[in-house]
Amino acid sequence: MKFSQSFIYTSKEAPSDAVLPSHIYLVRGGFIQSVGAGLYNFLPLGKKVLDKVRAIAKEELDKAGCQEVDLAFVTPSELWRESGRFEKYGKELLRFKDRKNAEFVLGPTHEEMMVNLVRQYVKSYKQLPINLYQIKTKFRDEIRPRFGLMRGREFLMKDGYSFHKDEADMIENGFKKMEATYSRIFKRLGLDFRIVEADSGAIGGSGSKEFMVLAESGEDTIVVCDSCDYGANIEAATRATPKAPHELDSEYEKPEMTFGKFLTPDIKTIEALAEFFKIDPYYTLKVVAKKALYDDGVAKVVLFGIRGSDQLQEVKACNAVDANELIDVEDEELESLGLTPGFMGPKGLPENTLFIADNLLKGESSTIAGANEKDYHYVGLNLNDLDLVYKDIVEVKEGDSCPKCSGKLKYTKGIEVGHIFQLGTRYSEPLKAEFLDENGKSQPFVMGTYGIGISRLLAAIIEQNHDEKGCIWTKTTAPFDLEIIVSNIKKEQELEAGEQLYKELKEKGVDVLLDDRKERFGFKMSDFELIGIPYAIIVGKKIGDGVVEIVNRRTLEKEEIALESVVPKIMEYLA
Ligand code: ATP
Ligand code: MG
Repeated sequence: MKFSQSFIYTSKEAPSDAVLPSHIYLVRGGFIQSVGAGLYNFLPLGKKVLDKVRAIAKEELDKAGCQEVDLAFVTPSELWRESGRFEKYGKELLRFKDRKNAEFVLGPTHEEMMVNLVRQYVKSYKQLPINLYQIKTKFRDEIRPRFGLMRGREFLMKDGYSFHKDEADMIENGFKKMEATYSRIFKRLGLDFRIVEADSGAIGGSGSKEFMVLAESGEDTIVVCDSCDYGANIEAATRATPKAPHELDSEYEKPEMTFGKFLTPDIKTIEALAEFFKIDPYYTLKVVAKKALYDDGVAKVVLFGIRGSDQLQEVKACNAVDANELIDVEDEELESLGLTPGFMGPKGLPENTLFIADNLLKGESSTIAGANEKDYHYVGLNLNDLDLVYKDIVEVKEGDSCPKCSGKLKYTKGIEVGHIFQLGTRYSEPLKAEFLDENGKSQPFVMGTYGIGISRLLAAIIEQNHDEKGCIWTKTTAPFDLEIIVSNIKKEQELEAGEQLYKELKEKGVDVLLDDRKERFGFKMSDFELIGIPYAIIVGKKIGDGVVEIVNRRTLEKEEIALESVVPKIMEYLA
């Protein structure tokens, strides 16, 4: 491609709302153009990269035996009602009616559509397993579309679904196979990534893993171990049972408490409480109140009890009560339910109050907790006397111990670019997608579901590969393999040599961009740095001596080289 004839327009101006390098450079470099919140046009450069990412994903998936399909983007809402997701999905689901008043949904993901397809054709275990995927536009009316391609409303996703006769087969021939396939895809894209345990919703367990591109700008906090390969999204991270302060430090004595109700005037926070009794917050019980939202507008206040030294993990807490979402609740509303904000605890709650205690409190025989009475706390409260429900609802902290080894856990940031999930029969059961097993018995398909954020990957690649000048594409994702910059096109010898190299390299199968524009050299160089093609050959003044330069975009190092050696050299670099 000759730059002078291309539809490539770079700009000095960044979008006013852009904070991430990938957002700024993809727009400035002429890869994408915004047409509204979370909506982007892909321009020739962006489309080329998108197609490369897509092709790598497709190649590896096909090699693994997956089959590509392309299902309708507009999906009938009946299917969403069948699965029960029409309500549950909330406002991200864009619903509309056609001229005949039939109701539809723009596909944000395609479980329902895929199950509906397969249930019509697959009737016997002999037809299993199968793994179908598509690489297709999705629409989610995200509440806060932002960061360019990172969180769009319309975006390109690879979504795959596998169907199996039982769980063992799903794990072996679906989940594990996709884990290996995804690893190959992200490796080929040139990314530094980590596979982490992820939130599996109310299902729980290790049935869900995310592929995280490590980058400071990542929206996800991931917990990693400093001595083994343990990694988990903070929403799912666990830790070895922490030791109490008196177990950690022999100088520290376990507080002795005899049961009683204590006047604690105006002591409403854990900090104040710990200070008041001169103890570590570990020995206190903190209550966090939330409102849990369910289908059909049902809402219920829930109290979560954790050690004073811990923080509530909201996704875990939400799963613990099987809610769609948790939101904050005002003190007035708590009071109207007979609760006493600041002094709430597990003993003496109004009847029918839902209270969930953290696993770490199990067996605690002496803690300090609110007495559900203004200005009073119980001291020496024995939780074993109460009938409590225990769940894992705390957030792992930096410095906690690894659940797999004795290492220390720390936080790092990641961009979720892939997600693999053991679905089980979550959709096949309500949609009555069944097959006949070896014994002629009807069974629902056991499923897995697997996603890759194809368009988000463009942003992730740049978040991990950029400098203060612009993009640095990896070899397999760059929009062109090579750029040839003719320093001054008015110099006939320069232009001729540039065009000759262009021709020669194209014949060798190299995808070259020839910058033959009538611009200053500095301007063209800045565009090269902004666009981020891995190498450039600069044809400048020294062409008179038969010398050109090769620039490496990543290191910005320049090397002079004889004109006749530049083609083999470049071929060597690109190999
Ligand atoms: P997130 O937690 O980031 O909102 P998700 O868990 O809702 O994502 P999935 O339903 O697992 O996303 O979708 C599969 C993949 O699609 C994700 O791993 C991510 O890479 C990508 N993706 C999801 N939402 C968006 C979006 N709004 N814009 C671009 N890519 C997205
Ligand atoms: Mg996900």
